[in-house]
Amino acid sequence: MKILVINSGSSSLKYQLFDMEKEHVLAKGLCDRIGIQNSFIKQTYNNGSEFIKETELKDHNDAIKEVINALTDKEHGVIESMDEISSVGHRVVHGGERFYKSVIIDRDVLNTIEECIELAPLHNGPNMIGIKACKKLMPNVPMVAVFDTAFHQTMPKKAFLYALPYSLYEKNGVRRYGFHGTSHKYVAERAAVMLNRPIEELKIVTCHLGNGSSICAVKHGKSVDTSMGYTPLAGVPMGTRCGSIDPAIVISLIEHDKYDSSMLNELLNKKSGVLGISGISSDFRDLDEAAEKGNERAELALEIFAYQVRKYIGAYAAAMGGIDALVFTAGIGENNQGLRKRVVTGLEFLGVEIDDDKNSQRGGEKDISTDQARVRTLVISTNEELAIARETLKLVGNR
Ligand code: AMP
Repeated sequence: MKILVINSGSSSLKYQLFDMEKEHVLAKGLCDRIGIQNSFIKQTYNNGSEFIKETELKDHNDAIKEVINALTDKEHGVIESMDEISSVGHRVVHGGERFYKSVIIDRDVLNTIEECIELAPLHNGPNMIGIKACKKLMPNVPMVAVFDTAFHQTMPKKAFLYALPYSLYEKNGVRRYGFHGTSHKYVAERAAVMLNRPIEELKIVTCHLGNGSSICAVKHGKSVDTSMGYTPLAGVPMGTRCGSIDPAIVISLIEHDKYDSSMLNELLNKKSGVLGISGISSDFRDLDEAAEKGNERAELALEIFAYQVRKYIGAYAAAMGGIDALVFTAGIGENNQGLRKRVVTGLEFLGVEIDDDKNSQRGGEKDISTDQARVRTLVISTNEELAIARETLKLVGNR
């Protein structure tokens, strides 16, 4: 049973081929610079070796063709023929209110995903193109859409509605949707396994901290609140995104500095966050290095980020009436021990206490709490691709 997972972006397409018998990755890869000069496909294998081919990728159809060629190549491939791929799981960013779980893709589903493009033009457009390209080349292979927003569809109205005229929600779908749902769900479920307790008993705050960051309150296995909103711009500051700000700042920029929508988009999505504060980089490794050398703005950016994450953890403990476990995941959450330490410092009153030795150990899943801590603090590697492959298997079965 082999499942192909596709994450299609505007000019790139990532993929992984799983053998689901042992949940084993056979190969993974990236088609980059689709529609631009110097496009290429890079496929990597479990032993760390790579196969790179520079080839013209005019569009996503070309990219999918190259993926299939690379997977079935006599020399560099991992399967004999495309027929071995029993189903395909597609990451779709926005599922609107219609999709509260993964679904098998049919005409109706495609139309609804298309309707959601308006809500997430940067993501759903390219996701759709990837699905269509795949359908064209593999018309008889069942395909599943797994939505970043789906896990958060259990949020109650008090958590997802903005205090705007209700008609904006009814007519325009303006509400909090939340993102990174596949990751939050995956690590919350892993946390329950690690703690050897049923998830239905647990109150967990999951911190997905990467280039994009979001925090989620997972009560008894369900998302009850999350920091990203109508779009992935809200919540904590990120690499280049501003996170939640006073919306009147936008009005002021329009009125006094003659910003238009594309300038605002560039400012808030690309030039803000820790990059904007530090003026150095959006990458936390660069910020750590600069802060260590005494750069005050890099230090400030790290402090602001950690402070906002800490506030969300406190808020979500309050929202759930307690917290049993705190989970760190994604690039920063999994790898940056200094940042984890900054975030939890001050949360002792909640029962969060970490052991510096355990926190400084590299790699793998771990419980970094002190023995006496009332809240277990866990570091868990997220694996959105495996989660998508599992969802696909669940829906399509062993066909
Ligand atoms: P992601 O979007 O999940 O790939 O996360 C990207 C962020 O993770 C960047 O800010 C990186 O600085 C950070 N990151 C990745 N690996 C490491 C590492 N080994 N040490 C510290 N930070 C890391």
